[in-house]
Parts: sequence; C-alpha cells; structure tokens
Amino acid sequence: MMRNCVCGKPIPHNRQLCASCIIEYGSNKANWPDWLTDWMQSYQKELNAERDYHHLSIDVDEGIVEAKPQFKLNGCRTETHERL
Ligand SMILES: [Zn+2]
Repeated sequence: MMRNCVCGKPIPHNRQLCASCIIEYGSNKANWPDWLTDWMQSYQKELNAERDYHHLSIDVDEGIVEAKPQFKLNGCRTETHERL
C-alpha cells in the first residue's frame, strides 16, 4: 500500500513525507506550517476511510451497496484515488 506525499510523490504508507519534504518541513509535526498539519490530518482521514471501506467490502459476503465516500482534496494534490 502506498500513499502520496503532500508534494504528490508516492511514499511508503508508514511515512508521512518524502525525503525532500522532510528536509523542507522537518520530520517533527510540531514544526510544520498549519496548512501542512491540516492537509496531513485530512489526508490521514481519507486513508483511514479508504482502509475501512476495503475492510467492509472484504468482510461481507455480498450485497452491501454503499457509495464510496467522496474525498475532498486540499492543497496542491490532484486526484489519486483512481488507481486502485
Ligand atoms: Zn514530498
């Protein structure tokens, strides 16, 4: 499972920023600018929702018809949810 850095680069799911963004913003959240903290929070929510959605669709045998949540994107990222 991959995720995207705020700059758009794919990064491992256990990282929050790519190497160059860590150089730029630091690895300590306390030092991040507000917009980055906000972006990370909403992105993390998206990832959690996506993960829960997949669990849901795996756990049931059939018949759950539930609209996939629409994610609002903040910041400079473009749509990245199409490549499942
Ligand atoms: Zn980055």
